Amino acid sequence: MSAGGAVAGGTGLVLVPVLLVVVLGGGSQTCGPTGPLAVAGGPGMVATAEATAEATAEATAEASAEASAEASAEVSAEVSADASAVAVPVGPVAGYSGVQLTNAAHIMAAAEQLGLPLQAQVIGVMTAMGESGLRVLDRGDAVGPDSRGLFQQRDNGAWGSLADRMDPTTSSLNYFRALTAVPGWASLEPTLAAHRTQRNDDPFHYVRWYEPARQVVAALAGVDLPPGATTTGGASACPAAAAPAGGVVTAGYGEPGPWGGHSNGRIPASALSPVPWGSGHALRSDATLALTALDNAYRAQFGRHLALTSTYRDYARQVSLKAQKGSYAATPGTSNHGWGLAVDLGGGVNSYTSAQYAWMRANAPAYGWVNPTWAHRGGSGPDEPWHWEFYGVPDATV
Ligand SMILES: [Zn+2]
Repeated sequence: MSAGGAVAGGTGLVLVPVLLVVVLGGGSQTCGPTGPLAVAGGPGMVATAEATAEATAEATAEASAEASAEASAEVSAEVSADASAVAVPVGPVAGYSGVQLTNAAHIMAAAEQLGLPLQAQVIGVMTAMGESGLRVLDRGDAVGPDSRGLFQQRDNGAWGSLADRMDPTTSSLNYFRALTAVPGWASLEPTLAAHRTQRNDDPFHYVRWYEPARQVVAALAGVDLPPGATTTGGASACPAAAAPAGGVVTAGYGEPGPWGGHSNGRIPASALSPVPWGSGHALRSDATLALTALDNAYRAQFGRHLALTSTYRDYARQVSLKAQKGSYAATPGTSNHGWGLAVDLGGGVNSYTSAQYAWMRANAPAYGWVNPTWAHRGGSGPDEPWHWEFYGVPDATV
């Protein structure tokens, strides 16, 4: 199978035989989840044409009812029977081009076929970026040697036959059926919705592909998707579109407190997870997970790990710190460090005027980590730019 064979000479476009893709009427709507989608033939239609009318001979051969076996493998018979050709830019878009964008169009069309909102298309494209780089891989990986296709679907019966898993449309349809079976999928942070669909190891695996996926979907759909306000894209420019806005910590959400029946500062090591790059440092496991994801993004920006000064603090250390630091230390037994839900950071984050602190303020909340308002400069408490607490993100528990 080679979708690259559908490149229409001279046009700069790839004609893909799929059902009508992702077209928003009027072109003015930028907030997918709440609005009507797929206005086939509507005024916002982008470069859609009956394959037989405008496609090149080469593309027609692939899209027509007399399609070759090669084309049949790419689209199912009933789809190609009334297929239209959708123009896909050769790219690059967000670093993706050619067959990758063709595959993105298949994913988007599958979501469209199921009547799903634009956000589902973004999640689907994001997932395939994170699994296969938008390529129909005829191989798996170390974790799943039997994984195949755009979504690296396992050979466990849940995703159909090998041919199904290798078919962009069928694999996408099966992906979206699983996605929409996830309770509350549309209001979850996108990476978590994808994680629960794929049941992969790392809930934050897909974070880095959210913004590229938005760009690809926007380009292929011919709509303007404003850039996400957070690194996870959970806070779109359309705050009413999804509630809660995934990835954004709303005021008071998940403020640290007692958990697991433990007492502050008396949590057994077995109930905590070590921070991978910090010897002797540990937090509650979801906080460690989120901090690790945050650290990945931080390292991409600054080239070094978050500098850990303090994480979980047991009761005895809270007592000695109080004696040492006075008003800068919490009353023993009340510190959020004693819940394994706070960290103190150095490396620049400990200064309000540093680039590191500014970056953290802008990006850490998407990972559930906040510098509490009391600790802001001029806040109600002591000035503590270094002190960050884990509030979590909505529905982050998996
Ligand atoms: Zn602290």
